[in-house]
Amino acid sequence: MNLKNSYLELGDQFYEKISPSPVSDPNLFLWNQNLALELGLPKELTDDTQALSQYFSGNQVFPDSTPIALAYTGHQFGHFNPRLGDGRAHLLGEVEAKDSSWDIQLKGSGPTMFSRRGDGRCALGPAVREFIMSEAMHALGVPTTRALAVVTTGDPVIREGVKPGAVVTRVAASHLRVGTFEYFAAQQDLAAVESLCHYAADRHFPELKQLSGSEFYKAFFTTVMRKQIELICQWMRVGFIHGVMNTDNTAISGETIDYGPCAMMNAYSPDTVFSSIDTQGRYRFGHQPQIGQWNMARLAECLMPLFDEDSTLAREIAQALLNAYAPEFQEKYFAMMGSKIGLSSVDTEDERLINDLLEIMRKSAMDYTQTFHLLTESQNSSGSDADLPSNLSHWKQRWHSRLAKQEPEEAYKLMRSQNPVVIPRNHHIEAIIESCVINGSTAEAEAFLAVLKSPYLELDITKHYQDPPADGDRHYQTFCGT
Ligand code: AMP
Ligand code: MG
Repeated sequence: MNLKNSYLELGDQFYEKISPSPVSDPNLFLWNQNLALELGLPKELTDDTQALSQYFSGNQVFPDSTPIALAYTGHQFGHFNPRLGDGRAHLLGEVEAKDSSWDIQLKGSGPTMFSRRGDGRCALGPAVREFIMSEAMHALGVPTTRALAVVTTGDPVIREGVKPGAVVTRVAASHLRVGTFEYFAAQQDLAAVESLCHYAADRHFPELKQLSGSEFYKAFFTTVMRKQIELICQWMRVGFIHGVMNTDNTAISGETIDYGPCAMMNAYSPDTVFSSIDTQGRYRFGHQPQIGQWNMARLAECLMPLFDEDSTLAREIAQALLNAYAPEFQEKYFAMMGSKIGLSSVDTEDERLINDLLEIMRKSAMDYTQTFHLLTESQNSSGSDADLPSNLSHWKQRWHSRLAKQEPEEAYKLMRSQNPVVIPRNHHIEAIIESCVINGSTAEAEAFLAVLKSPYLELDITKHYQDPPADGDRHYQTFCGT
């Protein structure tokens, strides 16, 4: 299938060469034909379900693939863990498509030298969650890794009981994480950190290649930081809570990666958190921007010796670069929130308008997606604002007088492009995962995916998935996909 593996050139301290472990009875469960087409996978392959099951379970390895498990480390919940790495994933190689290369990685494909006590496997439920969530996020316009396939293995895995096992195929711009840089910085292997910067720039930021010396490394850092800012702003736009923003789950490319304990917010509250292990609420919805900065500080520490040989000076440079995070985030965030209420530009007065709306929503526990959807439709030429909740009536007057300063049609178009009609609500995701796992059927998952593919359109079947959970997800908990 025309795979290359450019990571191999980095040197063998970056990975372990290791093949996936075979499974008993591989069966293709979910397949993403649109993505296969985008990647230009050969028709002989995509037409052959048997072959897909074999290759995307790891039972067979493509002739031109050299599977590797990548080394990385990271800060988990604020604490440095020196040994992480791909403990249950195999990078098969990269395909060239659309002027860039895409990593093809199996997850749940067996143990590696990084597995520690883990079994190297993945249960079907988390694999289905990753497939649906990442495809939903992509359709919402949020940068994310993609999912090509879920193959059931026929082998049980033990996860609070016996569960069916699966392998999920992830497609990513790359699998470089902040934790990859930390892995080498912790060993004071500056040459490796340098190589990583150049490798990452080659793949993601070719415009930086014209720079040299410390100018290159500073621009590299700022570019990665901007990508994080843009990414987290997009999460805030759709109400996504990543759940485990550890530095090993922070992709240098600026893609959302690792759909473990992620969830969607229903009623607006910055304190929303669902992850069972996040007892302190470190990764709660409204804290994601600050955590993004914290994670960028860890990257800056790795790059510091490359900013300047003088360590005091290097620290000052790192601090100055990092200080740009908060004002840049604020600007991007308010521009994004402004677009959610139809404003094509935002000033300080508008920021107040946005914050006041959010405060009303928080106080009255109003659903994030539904409220912005109603506000959007109230701007439709055929729409009315009769459906808007009465607690917004005073705010609405202020909003309308602000909108009057713009072109009349502008607001609706802008709002419709930014405010989804439907999101992958937690209670629907759970019901669909259950139907996949218990009944072994993909029908409900496919129906949900069809709706999530067009999240800004109100199709006939969309309404089945728009409802907030009856209990507000009060008792909802998510878990790491281990
Ligand atoms: P995650 O929570 O998926 O980000 O994983 C954190 C770390 O644990 C990574 O190094 C994973 O490779 C490793 N890991 C997670 N689950 C397993 C498993 N079942 N077997 C081996 N390693 C695992
Ligand atoms: Mg991870």
